[in-house]
Amino acid sequence: MEQTSDRQSTDRVLAEIFGLKSFRPLQREIIESLLASQSVLGILPTGAGKSLCYQLPSQILGGLTIVVSPLIALMRDQVRSLRDRGIWAAALHHHQSGTDQEKILAAARAGVLSLLYVSPERLRQPRLVRTLAAVTVSLLVVDEAHLISQWGHDFRPDYQGIRDFRERVGLPPVLAVTATATPRVKRDIIQALALDHGPLKVVEGSVDRPNLNLSVRHVASEAEKFAEVVRRVKAEQGAVLIYTDSRARTETWARQLHRVLKEPVSSYHAGMAASDRQMVEQRFLQREVRVVAATNAFGMGVDRGDIRLVIHVGIPESLDAYYQEIGRGGRDGEPGQAFMVWHDDDLRRRKWRLRQDQPDPGIVARIVERLAADLPEGGSQPWRWEPNQEMIPVILALLEEMGYVDIEEKALTSARIERLECPWPVSLGELLTNRLITQYRYRLQRFQAMEEYLGESGPCRRERLLQYFGQALTPGPRFDCCDRCQGEQGPGPVEQSAEDLMSALRAWRHAVARERNVAPYLVFQDRVLQDICQRMPMTLEQLSGCHGVGPKKIESFGLELLAIVKAHAISPEVVPASEDSALARAFSLFESSVAFSQVLERIPRSASTVLGYLERWMSQADIDVVRAYGFSLVKTETYDLIAEAFALEGDDRLRPVMDRLQGTVTYQDLRVARAIYRRSREEKLKDVPRQ
Ligand code: ADP
Ligand code: MG
Repeated sequence: MEQTSDRQSTDRVLAEIFGLKSFRPLQREIIESLLASQSVLGILPTGAGKSLCYQLPSQILGGLTIVVSPLIALMRDQVRSLRDRGIWAAALHHHQSGTDQEKILAAARAGVLSLLYVSPERLRQPRLVRTLAAVTVSLLVVDEAHLISQWGHDFRPDYQGIRDFRERVGLPPVLAVTATATPRVKRDIIQALALDHGPLKVVEGSVDRPNLNLSVRHVASEAEKFAEVVRRVKAEQGAVLIYTDSRARTETWARQLHRVLKEPVSSYHAGMAASDRQMVEQRFLQREVRVVAATNAFGMGVDRGDIRLVIHVGIPESLDAYYQEIGRGGRDGEPGQAFMVWHDDDLRRRKWRLRQDQPDPGIVARIVERLAADLPEGGSQPWRWEPNQEMIPVILALLEEMGYVDIEEKALTSARIERLECPWPVSLGELLTNRLITQYRYRLQRFQAMEEYLGESGPCRRERLLQYFGQALTPGPRFDCCDRCQGEQGPGPVEQSAEDLMSALRAWRHAVARERNVAPYLVFQDRVLQDICQRMPMTLEQLSGCHGVGPKKIESFGLELLAIVKAHAISPEVVPASEDSALARAFSLFESSVAFSQVLERIPRSASTVLGYLERWMSQADIDVVRAYGFSLVKTETYDLIAEAFALEGDDRLRPVMDRLQGTVTYQDLRVARAIYRRSREEKLKDVPRQ
């Protein structure tokens, strides 16, 4: 009963307040959990609609929803759009006058404020915390929640204060959201916010961005790198983002590219004045500049969906950072490319920088000594340091986390610190050094995955990235997946022609879109072009059977499209193998015990798709043949481990099993083992005989 009325009221609020027709995938699930007072960890890709997941419940729950967000520009945008919808929202951040803050706090106290956005360092202000502790807080939202994890690449110590804050405001349910998180970061978020102390739901969408092509090239010199970048930027008509690994390099790249390309190229990094940075963002958003060279400071607040090409000319510190940066490409769903080009100096430089982070016990001890001498116990004291003493804020944050100090106000090179009444152990310097060493090891370990990714051969890049984030690739044909896929499998004649056709169709779409001055996806979405490639229609009637091709499109483009398709289907062998015939061929190869690696070579589909075929075959072929084939791929010891994990975790979802086995097995092992496991269970064979 109650559930139906909940559902009606969420639907009503969705339509009446937010003017939207339906929920996107996973939004309802998250919202319903929050309305049932369950905390949620939501992992959804950028653009999936995470904001609605708390904005909507805030309107049903009443009271105050507090949103912790690191991005002032985004806070402002959201506050503005909420106010346009008649919702009372406000933001607290350090670019604000005291009186403005007072007004906002007064509104919160009076219970009329519905949503309050705050930056994490504000949560340290005792006055703010006191005010909010007296208000009914119905929901606490942590946006960009990966920043809470020391394992995450852009860890922010300020985020660690959220847990205390949550306690001070009466332990409301939490919604923690992020676009990407590795299994480790997920565990950290849950722990750091104590989410598992109450009912918790983890909701996770796929982080895959199927429209991005991934490729990496190793070059022998900086000159070769430059030539390659120029070639690619010239070949691209859309917007291009170039990530470098230092501020100075950003400027050099912008200058040199500008000289060669003869079009404006901006540079962007955190060392520039805020007004200059804003100007670059504006010009890029308003399409006055097409190419920007930037450090990782560029991005989070820049909402431009049609970035077609993201180039890395340096090596990021981790796959997390890399994935976040390439994620800014193709957010409109149209094809995009992520291209990285590197040479040995880039790798040496990155490794050198990583080594710089190795803590020096002597320096740590000296800082601790100075703090001990300058801060009177039980008192509160302003504290300054030089801009090049980066260790000091890091150590202060650790001391706060360990409960020795309370940082009341923090700025770039100063803080107001209260030394709590708790004696400092003699070994404090050593304790801190150990913590810092642990963090340093995290970084090194994370970089290993990045380094592996640089190689030209290896597993499919997409599969590798998803695996890093604890996810599996959804099976299905892909166009333009990555350079490793192309190199490894060598596309068969069928896929070759399909890829040519796809690029011909894209070029055609591009021309039509230009002519009509509309975005390409308004002519046809990628999905439609892909369906045309699959079906290879030879008549208008067949064409109209393709997904998304209606009578109007037939009238405007039908003959042109058929001409393109026919031009790509001249010889009989390139008539496409339908999905069914690839499947049938794979089945007969399995049936004749052809080794899996050979099957992969003979079936022009991605490894993941062929693995999907194998699972289907294993689910119905003769049990003895299935076991023989399965155990040629999975060792019996591995199978035993996995079967045990299935018994504990269930066999519906592979991720929990992967987590449990801590990466000692591959997804291929899991999928094959699951097929054997299910058949064995079916056949009521408790003990699978060993080979
Ligand atoms: P995220 O924070 O996940 O990156 P946002 O919350 O900023 O994404 O939402 C991205 C866009 O999607 C916004 O323009 C938002 O209005 C839109 N959006 C969100 N939910 C829906 C929905 N159910 N139907 C249509 N549009 C939606
Ligand atoms: Mg967001």
